[in-house]
Amino acid sequence: MAVRHVARMGNPVLRLAAEAVPVEVIRSKAFQRFLDDLLESMIEHDGTGLAAPQVFESVRAVVFCFDDSDPIFLVNPVITPISEERRDGYEGCLSVPGLRGKVSRWMDIRVDALDRDGKPFAFEAHGWPARIVQHECDHLDGVLYVDRAEPGSLAFLSEFRRFGPPIPLPKGHEDEEDEDPEDDGDEE
Ligand code: ZN
Repeated sequence: MAVRHVARMGNPVLRLAAEAVPVEVIRSKAFQRFLDDLLESMIEHDGTGLAAPQVFESVRAVVFCFDDSDPIFLVNPVITPISEERRDGYEGCLSVPGLRGKVSRWMDIRVDALDRDGKPFAFEAHGWPARIVQHECDHLDGVLYVDRAEPGSLAFLSEFRRFGPPIPLPKGHEDEEDEDPEDDGDEE
């Protein structure tokens, strides 16, 4: 396994629509090794999640952990909202180090994907885990959270910690204020 360098905003690889991965490729030794690298890179960079384009591979694969869960790999994921509700939360990104911004996401989603063995599976995610999945899967379409952030909400992490969120979250959403889909705030 190997830790990969993380592409930063401005690198064109982050703006490509990533390629779907055929099942036979998923099962290849090279791709399995790549998934191991993706996971190791996520851990090494203190991420909660990491998408393949962030380590310079423009393919539709992501990995993430919910709290203490085992790592979950999604290949060729498709997200479907299963309620009308959206929720605001502050996000950060290993490809946009040192910033936070407020993003509205679907609260309840269904995810259809292939696992790391190429087998189809599906699950529902709600709230914080749903936010992580939406953030990571956006990377597969060349979208960064700052594209979706509410104008005026971006802040450097040190200022965010010092002064709080530039635009407070609505009542009931505060639990997401200090969370971050991709890092623990120790970057830079
Ligand atoms: Zn990200």
